Amino acid sequence: MNYKNILLIILLMLITIQLTAIELISLQGNPIQGGIVICRTDDSIEKIFLDHTEIPIFENRAIFGFDRDEKLKHKITVVLENGSMFTSVFYISKRNYQIQRINGIEKKYIEQPQASATIQRITVESEKLKNRRSKLLKNNDIYFDKFCLPISGCRISGVFGSQRILNGIPNKPHNGLDIAAPKGTDIKAMTTGVVTLTGDYFYNGKFVLLDHGSGLSSIYIHMSTVNVEMGDYILAGDKIGEVGSTGRSTGNHLHWGVGWRSKRIDPELLLQNMDEVFLKILKK
Ligand SMILES: [Zn+2]
Repeated sequence: MNYKNILLIILLMLITIQLTAIELISLQGNPIQGGIVICRTDDSIEKIFLDHTEIPIFENRAIFGFDRDEKLKHKITVVLENGSMFTSVFYISKRNYQIQRINGIEKKYIEQPQASATIQRITVESEKLKNRRSKLLKNNDIYFDKFCLPISGCRISGVFGSQRILNGIPNKPHNGLDIAAPKGTDIKAMTTGVVTLTGDYFYNGKFVLLDHGSGLSSIYIHMSTVNVEMGDYILAGDKIGEVGSTGRSTGNHLHWGVGWRSKRIDPELLLQNMDEVFLKILKK
């Protein structure tokens, strides 16, 4: 066998191995910035890694997500019970985000707060939220089943990922979906989960953070009323509170955020086809 043929065989072997890793876990969902992917495994699979992070497997299912500005090239590694390992390169799609200008926000929410009590309050609240989010990682169960809109039939007033210019000053990108609705409109849980934090914070106003398991979480902010308590087990579509304009808000609306670990996920992508994807995975 000549040198060229040997190279060709090695190349073919590499291509075969690359195909196998992806095929082993049958990825389904939205492989795009801000998207979620769910995979179905079988009993022969012991571990899955996305780049260098081990992804927990629960009842032959695993989930992972991609941040707003996530890099496009990833590596998926699958380790079988017999010790063999397969690796695939995996690409996600790039998104283009809108620019959104919002004026009329009270100065205290835009400028750096001067009062030390306010600074301290913001620091404590952001630490609390961060700690709660990091605890989500310890829960590998998957509670979520079907996905639904927290408020239906109302206008979407802000999309995920848009670059925000608040009172003319560039601010952080918008990391959720805004739904404008009258004060007192019922807010429903996007899917099954456990209430992991509630409060009345400087920026968030009244809010609820839900843990859906396996790193997936959702947050509902600017509420007028919170109807749940920490530790409550909530089913998809259950009422958790009512629309308001508390915290940094210019009018009655719900800011609905979705996270996977520390990454921000686009809520609209979950609704587009995740129901179908998830039900398909359950049925297999
Ligand atoms: Zn918002």
